[in-house]
Amino acid sequence: MLTSIRNLSLKKKSELVDKMAKKTKKTKPSSKKYALYESSGSELKRKNKFCPKCGDGVFLAKHKDRLSCGKCQYTEFMTKDKKE
Ligand SMILES: [Zn+2]
Repeated sequence: MLTSIRNLSLKKKSELVDKMAKKTKKTKPSSKKYALYESSGSELKRKNKFCPKCGDGVFLAKHKDRLSCGKCQYTEFMTKDKKE
């Protein structure tokens, strides 16, 4: 009986370890900042707006109805009549 309980706990433990291992394996997707730039010839185009608080280099993340900065939480609401 004792061994079976031990085995059970061991199994649970290994499952937990597995879960933790899976979690730690998940790597954060690198920010694709290069995707927000578009170069045509010598000109460099930026697809998103920059954050007015953080300055150039910090893009505003596009949402359904707003733009937001992930750095300073600045949020800019988009007007409905303007659609890209
Ligand atoms: Zn910002």
